[in-house]
Parts: sequence; structure tokens; C-alpha cells
Amino acid sequence: MEKIHNFINGEFYPAKSNNYLDVFEPATGKIYAKVSDSNYDDVVFAVKSAQNSFDHWSNLSIEKRSNYLINIANEIENQIDEFSEYEARDTGKPISLARSIDIPRAISNFRFFAEFSLSFESEYYLNSNTSKNRIIRYPLGVVGCISPWNLPLYLFTWKIAPALIVGNTVLAKPSELTPYTAYKLGEICKKIKLPAGVLNIINGRGETAGNGIVRHPSIKAISFTGGTKTGKLISAKCSSTFKKLSLEMGGKNPSIIFNDCNYEKMLETLVRSSFSNQGQICLCSSRLFIEESMYDQFKIDFCEIVKNLKIGDPNNFDTQYGAITSLQHYNKIIDYISLAKKQSVNLLSGGNSIILDGRCKGGWFIEPTIIEGLSNIDKINREEIFGPIVTLQKFSNEQEVINLANETDYGLSATIWSQDKVKANRIADQIDAGIIWINSWLIRDLRTPFGGMKESGLGREGGEYALQFFTETKNICSLQ
Ligand code: NAD
Repeated sequence: MEKIHNFINGEFYPAKSNNYLDVFEPATGKIYAKVSDSNYDDVVFAVKSAQNSFDHWSNLSIEKRSNYLINIANEIENQIDEFSEYEARDTGKPISLARSIDIPRAISNFRFFAEFSLSFESEYYLNSNTSKNRIIRYPLGVVGCISPWNLPLYLFTWKIAPALIVGNTVLAKPSELTPYTAYKLGEICKKIKLPAGVLNIINGRGETAGNGIVRHPSIKAISFTGGTKTGKLISAKCSSTFKKLSLEMGGKNPSIIFNDCNYEKMLETLVRSSFSNQGQICLCSSRLFIEESMYDQFKIDFCEIVKNLKIGDPNNFDTQYGAITSLQHYNKIIDYISLAKKQSVNLLSGGNSIILDGRCKGGWFIEPTIIEGLSNIDKINREEIFGPIVTLQKFSNEQEVINLANETDYGLSATIWSQDKVKANRIADQIDAGIIWINSWLIRDLRTPFGGMKESGLGREGGEYALQFFTETKNICSLQ
């Protein structure tokens, strides 16, 4: 069985403990690889390698670093079909999604930061001919990047690319559940001759490998994407060492639907925003608020489209909806559905696990599930499920829906559906979320800030925001 090793100092090494974790294919429920179960000793080894390479890497011109990033992007693009297969196998997502979103975005992450950062220069402020302030930004040193399993290479590279381009060296940890594309990224770094030690990829569990990265004293910053509970733990551990911290965490995203929306476009997009990647995208809509006057018709039409989603083997290009990424997560989602069934709710669609025939017989599939009849403060509407469950609630006026949308501990994203742009923008201004889409979903300009409010996040990623995070700033003031 294939073994996935750490990538340290330009070479692949098993964990020092020589222990491995099983890696499963969610669509079949079978183990297909073993991944190194690293601990603090491996982190120490990787930090040394990153420290040794820092002077060389940070002293390269930004153009040279940019060329390396472009070479990485080109090489992923050369292998886009293979990478899409790996991602679908690791996550259970339809290969069409991996091929159209995950892997192209990983490529764009490298290309975007390679190009965007070429204008990353010193700033100057002149003060009435008396003084001149020169502001310089330095790389931090060795930084840690920790990412989750839902968009493995997409989110892994979203952190690594800005960290590297400004001259840091990196220790990065993919989720232990989905380590394969990160492993293949290591191979690409070797192939394009990225200087050894610049990017080090450590595999293993959060409480050992991840925690090792967080607590290592020489790591200057942690960029984390994952659950809010983990984010809180990491934040507590970083507070005494003053590591810079960027946290991208959970969500409970509202979708606000007015009866003056473009109905067909709303329905088509809402199905994607609710059930893409089986609802396992932090930006997925999970609480749907529908204007009372259209509620009954909406319910019928939405359920009809959802029931027609093609559920199946993620390897088939016509599959629209695949498997849940881990057995543990599958059980968690089933528990929420069981809870709903015990309450007096209407299960409008779904609510069951699915057993497919053939290759995917043992896979972890759950029907896309639509529930009505829960109040906004019910557990299912308060807690992040991160799966294929949405709830429907009616509203009758703007203020009511703003209150409902904001009545949550989270504040990651929201969508608003109305053709009245003034109204939609008025509402967007009052919704507590880091990113709000009006009449669309998941459109991303990589220059814009990305992140959450409240328990969804701390700091922003993207464009200049990411470059700021991964640098230290100094102001030098001199008389003119
Ligand atoms: P998780 O918090 O369990 O794990 C995320 C990463 O952190 C993994 O690599 C894990 O090994 C590591 N980790 C776990 N415990 C750790 C610890 N004590 N110290 C250091 N590292 C540790 O999250 P997950 O289950 O992999 O991902 C799902 C969550 O991620 C959901 O809550 C989802 O909303 C969130 N998410 C957020 C965004 C965003 O941009 N806001 C994007 C994707 C996913």
C-alpha cells in the first residue's frame, strides 16, 4: 500500500516514530494509503530545515521567487487530470468539482500571488518637506500553515503561496484525512527544484503534528483554517508567545431570498450553495430565509431540483453529489438528522444515508436534506453541521430577516437574492459576515479580503491582506 511521507529539506522522510495513519477513500469506505503520523521530533527537524533555507530564500529577488511559484503552478496544470482524481479519491467530492474548482484554484493561488506581489514594494510618506517615512516589510521567518480536509489543495496553497512569495519559509500541514495532493505538491517542488527547505510538508494528526507546529518557539506565525473549536485552542496556545495568528473557521451562513429575485437563477445557484461538496464548504448556505409570499412555491421547486441531483461515484464525470469525507463526520451528520427526526419538524427531502451499488457500496453517502419547522435558535440552526443539511424559515420584512440572519455565533458569509439592488445592498450593510454575495455565490477575486467575523475568524486572507499578515513592518523616519 502506498505510503505518504513528510517532505522536509527537499526530500521525503517517514515520520521519526515510523507510525502511520490509515487514509480512506470515502466513496468506498476502504483504506487506500498510509500517511506518516508525525510528532514534535518531525516538526523540529522541519523547522531546522526551514531556518537553514531562510537566508537564501528571503534574499532572492521577488521576481525569482515569483518564477518558482509560476513553475509550481505550471506543473500542477500539466497534471490537472491526475490531481483532480487524487482530490476526488481523498475527499469523496465529484471529480467534476475537483477538476473545475479545487485544482484550478490551487493553480490560480500560485499564479495570483506570483504576479500580484511583484508590486509589493516599500511605501513612502513625505511630510511637508520636513520628514520622510520609509516603510519596509520583511518576511517573518519560518511560518506554519495548517489546513482542513474539505478543499485540500485549494486551501493549502492559498496559505503557502503568499507566505512563500514574501520570503518566508514554511512548515505546512494538510489534514490527516486528505493528505494526498499535498504529498504530490511536494513531488512537484522537488521536480521544479524549489530550493530545499523552503516548503516543508508535515503529515499527521492535529493534536501531535499540528500542535507541534503551533507550539514550536521558532515559528513566527500560524495561518489556520479549520473548525472554531480548534481555532480557539490554537489561539490560546499562541497568546503567550505572540505568534501572529490568522484563523479561518466555521460558519452558519444565511441565504436571504426575496420574492423579487431572479427565481430560476436563484434556484440553480442555491442548490449549489447548499449542497456543493455535500455541503462541506465553509461558505455553503445552511439557513435559508424565504420571503413569506413565495415560501410555498419555493419549497416545492427547491425540493424538486434537489431530488434530481445525480448522486454517485465521485469518479464519474456526471456525478453531481458524492460522499461525506470521513466516517466520523458522516456519523456526526447522521446524529443531527436523528435529532431533527425526534423533533416535530418536516423533513421535506432526504434525511437518510444512501447505499450505492457496485464499487461505492461501502461509501459514506447521505442524502441532501431539507428541513422546515425549526426555530432559529434550535441546535440544528445554531451549530455548524458542515454537511448536506439546510433548514427553511419564512420572513415577512427586512428587519426581521436581518435579525434572524445575525442571530448566530458565526459570521463568515451570506447570500442575498433580490433584483432590487438598493434593497440588497442595504441589507448587506447590516449583515454580520465577512463576505456577502448578492445574486451569486462563490465568485472570488483573489485581491479581495476573505475571512469571517465573530466565531468565524480572525484576520483576513487574500491579496494585500495576506501579504500584510506574512510580513513584519518597519517605519524609518528621517529629516528631509
Ligand atoms: P479541524 O479544526 O478539525 O482541523 C483543521 C486542521 O487543523 C487539520 O489539519 C487538523 O489536523 C489540524 N488540527 C486539529 N487539531 C489541532 C491542534 N490542536 N493544533 C493544531 N492543529 C490542529 O477542522 P476540519 O474538520 O479539518 O475542517 C472543517 C472545519 O473547517 C469546518 O468548521 C469548516 O467551516 C472550517 N473551514 C473554514 C474555512 C474558512 O475559510 N473559514 C474553510 C474551510 C473549512
